[in-house]
Amino acid sequence: MIEEIAKNTGLTEEQAAELLSLNKRILELLGEDPNREGLLKTPERVAKSLRFLTKGYREDPAAVLRAATFREDYQQMVIVRDIDFFSLCEHHMLPFFGKAHVGYIPNKYITGLSKIPRVVDIFARRLQVQERLTTQIKDCIQETLNPLGVIVVIEARHMCMQMRGIEKQNSITTTSDFTGAFADKTTRDEFLNLIENRHS
Ligand SMILES: [Zn+2]
Repeated sequence: MIEEIAKNTGLTEEQAAELLSLNKRILELLGEDPNREGLLKTPERVAKSLRFLTKGYREDPAAVLRAATFREDYQQMVIVRDIDFFSLCEHHMLPFFGKAHVGYIPNKYITGLSKIPRVVDIFARRLQVQERLTTQIKDCIQETLNPLGVIVVIEARHMCMQMRGIEKQNSITTTSDFTGAFADKTTRDEFLNLIENRHS
């Protein structure tokens, strides 16, 4: 059993066994009986789930972009919008999730369109704060593709706010960051108009 869990989670058998016993201990400290039927496999499921939700630590987003970079003279804005993502806030290890919108203006090089959502996913599958997630996606694209500019807007709901009733239950947090050509308000507005038209 431990062998299978180790394989599934990318941990050594020793680490997998330790993670299982820690998860079991959490159940005990929460006042549960980890030996009751419904919870027997929970330490194992939680271990697999947590390792999956943080698998972005074991992936290299810059390598993903570099592997699919093509020379192209197109110099207009490229936008990939409404990219669904799921992340865990690093303060509570509770989910935050929503949509990311990414735009860039190529400088002789473009990347495969499916690679942008992959980059979002890799950074999201780590313990995050929304602000850093936004900046890391922007930096990765800027440093790898060297475009004339890149912009990232993220809209998300945070379960640590909604489930704990700290803030308005339906509040959405928006963050944005940009480089280069997007410092120009007209360019930024063009991007914002294009992503805002999504509901029409
Ligand atoms: Zn939180």
